[in-house]
Amino acid sequence: MSAADVVVVGAGPAGLGAATELRRRGVGRVVVYERELQPGGVPRHTAHLGYGARDLHRITTGPRYAAAMVRQAERAGVEIEVGRTVRSFADGTVATTGADGPATVHAGAVLLATGVRERPRAARLVPGDRPAGVLTTGALQQFTTLHHQRVGTRAVVVGAEHVSFSAVLTLAHAGCQVAAMVTPLPRHQSYAPLRLATAGRRRVPLLTGVDVVEVVGRTRVEAVVLTDGTRIACDTVVFTGDWVPDHELARAGGLPMLPHAKSPVADATGRTEQPGVFAIGNLVHPAETADLCALGGRAAALSVMDWLALHDWPTAVRPIEVRPPILWAAHTARGITLRVAEFVEGRIECRVGDEVLHRTKHRLWTPNRAIHLPLAANASTRILLSPVERLQ
Ligand SMILES: Cc1cc2nc3c(=O)[nH]c(=O)nc-3n(C[C@H](O)[C@H](O)[C@H](O)COP(=O)(O)OP(=O)(O)OC[C@H]3O[C@@H](n4cnc5c(N)ncnc54)[C@H](O)[C@@H]3O)c2cc1C
Repeated sequence: MSAADVVVVGAGPAGLGAATELRRRGVGRVVVYERELQPGGVPRHTAHLGYGARDLHRITTGPRYAAAMVRQAERAGVEIEVGRTVRSFADGTVATTGADGPATVHAGAVLLATGVRERPRAARLVPGDRPAGVLTTGALQQFTTLHHQRVGTRAVVVGAEHVSFSAVLTLAHAGCQVAAMVTPLPRHQSYAPLRLATAGRRRVPLLTGVDVVEVVGRTRVEAVVLTDGTRIACDTVVFTGDWVPDHELARAGGLPMLPHAKSPVADATGRTEQPGVFAIGNLVHPAETADLCALGGRAAALSVMDWLALHDWPTAVRPIEVRPPILWAAHTARGITLRVAEFVEGRIECRVGDEVLHRTKHRLWTPNRAIHLPLAANASTRILLSPVERLQ
């Protein structure tokens, strides 16, 4: 069995950010395992501007951002092994499988940075046959950006959050007309300028208060049927957003999960319930921007170094306690991020016991959109977040 000071699982912005920082601070052997054949994570196939504001201090495209992250890691002496999937971690032993077979490595610390994915059609329990043409935004962007494949001629986009509008743009660039966007919520959940610049200028109808209940077609998608009975002819359906962490490895390793986020419970520095095991990036907060994930990885590196030097670990790592309609809250490099279940008005309060740590202005909160609170919470502090007034 070989040995590494730190094993990082996943070469996305979080994993590469952490690994680079560890090497820059003098940690000996830092190995990143990546199951895909190229490092860089999701940004590799999101070929639009919007990356790097808070960590690189410039705005760039996803592929350029990914390339910059990989370059930094390689220059710092991080060993990146691609095409190798981590299958388990237990008591510092990490088991992997790649093209040349299985291997194990002993690690002083393990960082899980496996990211997030969109809930696919099967997990959304949408009935119908299994024709070609059913995608998520991630799959759509991989087909078009990485493999330069055609996707179809007429699509329905399911969802109306930020990533859904990104899907509209990708479809337009791929020469595929968007017949409609569909959301069960009463309005879209993105920024008005983003909607205008993507769906608005292409006159894509946004159908609210309805969902897709059937995908029609045997070999290729022919139509979708909505909850109100409307049938929309299309040859492509893109299920967007509705993020779920890539958490199978963390679950199999026995880490407790947040019920709604379905992410491993971790404190502000990434420490989980298991000594020496850290969880970072979108695995713990589905889903934030890449720069926040990279900064979170860098911050976790300091905590990893403390562990390697002192072998000190909190007796318990508690989740942040939330009250409905708040679904979940998690730590980021810039405070706390949370999500609400529905459109709701009021203030959000953070408390420790009876003491109010933070109170926001009264405003409308949007589901499927990140809500950030600039609050440095103690890892073991119990914090209660609740809207003071709930108008809906
Ligand atoms: C369509 C779309 C548009 C986006 N637009 C923007 C934008 O404009 N700006 C922005 O800042 N962010 C954007 N994002 C978000 C950004 O891509 C993510 O915040 C970022 O990639 C998350 O980083 P991560 O390291 O946590 O996870 P990821 O980037 O998902 O990386 C995780 C890596 O772990 C690997 N992995 C998983 N399991 C294993 C395993 N068992 N063994 C080995 N490897 C494993 C995966 O293959 C993957 O490469 C967008 C995302 C999407 C989907």
